[in-house]
Amino acid sequence: MKQFTKSFTQQESIPEAGIKAANDVMRTGRLHRYNTLPDEKSETDLLEIEFAEYMGLPYALACSSGGYALHIAMRAAGVEAGDKVLCNAFTLAPVPGAIHNSGAVPVLIDVADDYCIDLDDLEAKAAASGARYFMLSHMRGHVADMDRIMAICEKYNLFLIEDCAHTMGASWNGIKSGTFGDIACFSTQTYKHINSGEGGFLTTRHAEVMARAIMHSGSYMLFERHFAAPPKEVFEQIRFETPNYSGRMDNLRAAILRPQLADLDTQCQRWNTRYRILEQQFNNCPAIHIPSRPAKEQFVASSIQFSLPGFSTEQILQVVAQCNEQGVVLKWFGDSEPKDYTSRYDSWHYIEAMPQLPQTEKILSKLLDMRIPLTFSEADCQLLGEIICKVTESLK
Ligand SMILES: *Cc1c(COP(=O)(O)O)cnc(C)c1O
Repeated sequence: MKQFTKSFTQQESIPEAGIKAANDVMRTGRLHRYNTLPDEKSETDLLEIEFAEYMGLPYALACSSGGYALHIAMRAAGVEAGDKVLCNAFTLAPVPGAIHNSGAVPVLIDVADDYCIDLDDLEAKAAASGARYFMLSHMRGHVADMDRIMAICEKYNLFLIEDCAHTMGASWNGIKSGTFGDIACFSTQTYKHINSGEGGFLTTRHAEVMARAIMHSGSYMLFERHFAAPPKEVFEQIRFETPNYSGRMDNLRAAILRPQLADLDTQCQRWNTRYRILEQQFNNCPAIHIPSRPAKEQFVASSIQFSLPGFSTEQILQVVAQCNEQGVVLKWFGDSEPKDYTSRYDSWHYIEAMPQLPQTEKILSKLLDMRIPLTFSEADCQLLGEIICKVTESLK
């Protein structure tokens, strides 16, 4: 029996340039983003400038986590207590958490067979709920048909917040994920596409939204020390009425991130090379269903999802257990018990009037997930594919 021995939670090391830059920051002792010499730009300032440039957007704010960015996105968008916010039922817990944190009420939308948000359910619930906000999660890097999403947003006048925790570096039809919506949020937490332990970004092209986000993030009255930001006049009206919800990024993490951002596109290609190896093996394995991805979707596959449509829950649990015995860590999204990063929507008990979503439950009950850290070689992915195929074929 073949055995896989590498860790699914082992990242690559921080690039030497990042380690050096972090050391330089520590030697100065000026770790706080606003602790600069006259005319100096801090590492955090430079990171924001570079990220805005990478995204092709005028404004970027670095902050303490992706979930924090989602929360202040809600506030900066003007969401008020009791407002309804459309969001994916298939997403990670920080998404409904950010909505709840702003006092708003999530309206959960079904997942579709391609693991994207179900666009018919989205349209129906946009019409029925009267919601004015939509927090779209590109969950596990699956980018839904953005042409249709934007048409729905326009038709129902929805303010769109993109959760790009899994799509940093991805595009739809050549347009970067995160530039479609009114706001986009990113995570630089260890398991995402660039790694500072904790961290995140908020981007937008709306000057007043960014001014509010900067105030929320805990800029005190130092907003003039932001460079990927609107001019100070924009702050004049909002600075007295925008509460400080401190959640800044520091220079140490920014120093670590800058060289990783410079490498991001190369890293995305390395992820996709690994994904294609696994995908090809799964396509040759009759028990496994893996949705083909549209040509318009330029994804970044830092993980892979697949379904076992003919399998019972008992069989799926056996697949997970047997793969695990051979060193292959699979996650199952159908579990009623939240584990690790999988949590099914009905485990978020704080959502009042929890809907029944039989379609979502059906799809998640067959859905498995595997991380693809870049410490796995192409040969490793070949072996992983072989093990998973063999196990599923033997249990079908
Ligand atoms: C990780 C993640 C977030 C939030 O990121 P943190 O930096 O961990 O707060 C939001 N949405 C999704 C889908 C994520 O995977």
